[in-house]
Amino acid sequence: MSTQTETGELEVWVDQDLCTGDGLCVQYAPEVFEFDIDGLAYVKSSTGELLQNPGVRTDVPARLRLEVIDAAKECPGDCIHVVRSSDDVEVAGPDAD
Ligand code: SF4
Repeated sequence: MSTQTETGELEVWVDQDLCTGDGLCVQYAPEVFEFDIDGLAYVKSSTGELLQNPGVRTDVPARLRLEVIDAAKECPGDCIHVVRSSDDVEVAGPDAD
């Protein structure tokens, strides 16, 4: 494979065990992150459905890549993981280089 398309290249998940509930991610990318009734952040599907399984992944829309990466870098809980779909390498978040 040569260069990847920008669509569907990154996925994101939240480690709810570490989420502080401050809401920074929801401010950055409300299309991707949302609070559940437990006050913790979860990711949403591409159709906007809240995915309530802890640690579940969703695709990062190409137009929101920067917002999602910024959220991961600034997340006070260090619990947003942005990974490359093709090889699972974390590109932003606590396990990124
Ligand atoms: S920025 Fe991090 S700690 Fe804050 S609500 Fe989002 S996932 Fe939780």
